[in-house]
Amino acid sequence: MHEYSVTVRIAKIACDEAEKAHGRVREIDLVVGDEAGFVGESIQMYFDVVSRGTPCEGARLTIERVRPKLRCSSCGALFEKKPFSFACPLCGGNGTPTEIGREFYVKSVKLEVSDSCT
Ligand SMILES: [Zn+2]
Repeated sequence: MHEYSVTVRIAKIACDEAEKAHGRVREIDLVVGDEAGFVGESIQMYFDVVSRGTPCEGARLTIERVRPKLRCSSCGALFEKKPFSFACPLCGGNGTPTEIGREFYVKSVKLEVSDSCT
């Protein structure tokens, strides 16, 4: 359910951009880490609802997923987390979570600006 509030925020960011440029939002690129705890499908679903009647209406959402990475506490290697395992593939040491995979942000907003006054 927390996808709803982040979607409102995303739509707000994009709408502000569109209003500044006097255009409409064509596409919003999001970066979402697999560990961020957000479901892409829900974001799209809520977006369709919250964007109605705004410059964001009809915009396409693209979601770039980020695979989580762990850092080995013994040798310092960064490695992709395997299901149910925290072991370093190089030395077998213990991996600790990093910020990689927890991303959640708007990477870019593509606008459609019509400069015709007719
Ligand atoms: Zn290691």
